[in-house]
Amino acid sequence: QLQLKINRNGCDQNKKPNSVPECHEEDDRGEERDQSEDERSSDEGFMARTPLLQAHHAMEKMEEFVHKMWEGRWRVIPHDVLPDWLKDNDFLLHGHRPPMPSFRACFKSIFRIHTETGNIWTHLLGCLFFLCLGLMYMFRPNMSFVAPLQEKVVIGMFFLGAILCLSFSWLFHTVYCHSEGVSRIFSKLDYSGIAFLIMGSFVPWLYYSFYCSPQPCFIYLIIVCVLGLAAITVSQCDFFATPQYRAVRAGVFVGLGLSGVVPTLHFVISEGLIKATTIGQMGWLFLMATLYITGACLYAARIPERFFPGKCDIWFHSHQLFHILVVAGAFVHFHGVSNLQEFRYTAGGGCTEDGML
Ligand SMILES: [Zn+2]
Repeated sequence: QLQLKINRNGCDQNKKPNSVPECHEEDDRGEERDQSEDERSSDEGFMARTPLLQAHHAMEKMEEFVHKMWEGRWRVIPHDVLPDWLKDNDFLLHGHRPPMPSFRACFKSIFRIHTETGNIWTHLLGCLFFLCLGLMYMFRPNMSFVAPLQEKVVIGMFFLGAILCLSFSWLFHTVYCHSEGVSRIFSKLDYSGIAFLIMGSFVPWLYYSFYCSPQPCFIYLIIVCVLGLAAITVSQCDFFATPQYRAVRAGVFVGLGLSGVVPTLHFVISEGLIKATTIGQMGWLFLMATLYITGACLYAARIPERFFPGKCDIWFHSHQLFHILVVAGAFVHFHGVSNLQEFRYTAGGGCTEDGML
């Protein structure tokens, strides 16, 4: 009888319809019930109210208890008992957070030790670092630029990309264990963030490298934006986030970054290798590419935990190293770009007839 009193929406039908406006009867036959049936049901309702109330209180207690578990009393669990949607890297044997469908609990877990602690902090601190660096750059006196507003917007695009990438990343790693739906949404943001970082990195580099030939600069910018948007579109597919597509993911973003090879060759051919390595900052760009590609390879191959399963659960697993290399790569890129900016400032805004710089 008790079960009959609860409809499919979990609404208590014993309560009078007027008193509970948010519960709507789904059954079409409900209005056709005759009076005797109504009376009978109200009698039964009275009889069933006490156990129902008790059940309700018990449910509330249970919810409170479960909430407390999420809030701070959870323990890390081994990989093999994780639900499928949380199973990402089977070389990390222990130290995983359990599913915790509470944002509060997820954010509190930033201060606990588990497989995601390093992933969260590497990009949380990286994000704060680039935020400070970006603000310092934006508030630099205008007299240290040739075209202050334009240059600040152009370099600001790099900082915007870096801050978006790093903040989407630490947020994703924080709420990853919330629930399947939340982890899916934030993983898409995380991947899109990488594309934003790559697109943002191209803007000041192309601007200063092709300062005196705006046409190729513009064409390369359009190409990287189209490729970046394509990468973001692919990231929105559910299959893209699955463990089987790990190498494909690494390949998509390395490919997007390597699209910079074309403008690099263009620059080297037109300006010569010596100018490219000195004024063009190719050395720094090469170091940046090496850091990113090394990070992507470690990520795709899951090195070192592949060789030491269970030994890198908390510290130094591939994803953490990849995060550190991304922050290092972004900083090296910024260093190269700020050297280009400095050259532009000392050379002045004028252009010679044949050069691109
Ligand atoms: Zn990550």
